[in-house]
Amino acid sequence: MLPPRWTPGPPDGRGAVKYNEGAQLDPSQMGGGRRGGGGKVALGGGAGLIVLVLALVFGINPNDLIGTGTAEPENTSGATPFAQCTRGSDISQERDCRFVAFTNSIQAYWGDTVHDYQVIKVNTFTGRIDTACGSASSAVGPFYCPGDTSVYLDLAFFDQLTSQLGAQGGDAAEAYVLAHEFGHHVQNLVGTMRKVQGGGQGTGPKSPGVRLELQADCYAGVWFNHAASDPDSPIAEVTQEDLERAIDAAAAVGDARIQEKTQGQVNPESWTHGSAANRQKWLMKGFTTGDPNKCDTFAADAL
Ligand SMILES: [Zn+2]
Repeated sequence: MLPPRWTPGPPDGRGAVKYNEGAQLDPSQMGGGRRGGGGKVALGGGAGLIVLVLALVFGINPNDLIGTGTAEPENTSGATPFAQCTRGSDISQERDCRFVAFTNSIQAYWGDTVHDYQVIKVNTFTGRIDTACGSASSAVGPFYCPGDTSVYLDLAFFDQLTSQLGAQGGDAAEAYVLAHEFGHHVQNLVGTMRKVQGGGQGTGPKSPGVRLELQADCYAGVWFNHAASDPDSPIAEVTQEDLERAIDAAAAVGDARIQEKTQGQVNPESWTHGSAANRQKWLMKGFTTGDPNKCDTFAADAL
């Protein structure tokens, strides 16, 4: 049995992705969280820049990422709550197995696409967690930490996506969020992230930081294009509705929408992720082309 605080998934199967029942799932790509040291986390001078890259959507208070704190590991036994997720058919029994399906599918695609792709883990957590990028709280939303090459995911975030940010939600919306974080992993592996941070990414609608985020959205779209093409993929089909839910989520996490909701006004100079329209555009560009080489947001004049 899984802990009851896990996400229930859409009622009546609404928004559920079509899964390949017979596909194998690999739960070893999921971490159950990290045991916290409880001490101070040492961060280098560039930490402030990294933090901006990390916060996917909220990122409203980057101090949440660099404070000190004690992690609340999901468990400490080594086995994760996802261990029972071994087949696509398990998703209908335990809805949270869908996160294993997304993770496996995303990494299978990039493993075939990026030379020397490094398979990493998605660590789920609640409350706070210590990472190589500092101590993070749920408030920052899902993020990728280049320091320990892990994706961190507070599953409660998906409730916020629908209840606070007004997204329709659904499996494809969640898959988009995860795929965006793996987009950052790809950027880390191919050196894009390092280049951007070396140049001082800043903020603003056309800043390198925003371009980095929009490229991660484009990479997410590229994966959606290929998610069902491998017969072994746990994703059986990407439907029009799935795509619409992903696009809707991309709009919900645009800077303008978040600022409107949290500050009552829009201030493009503080943008770190791009507007709703920007995010939708690049997600769609990735999906329609299916080609990561078309995701060069750094060369684009109009974002
Ligand atoms: Zn991001």
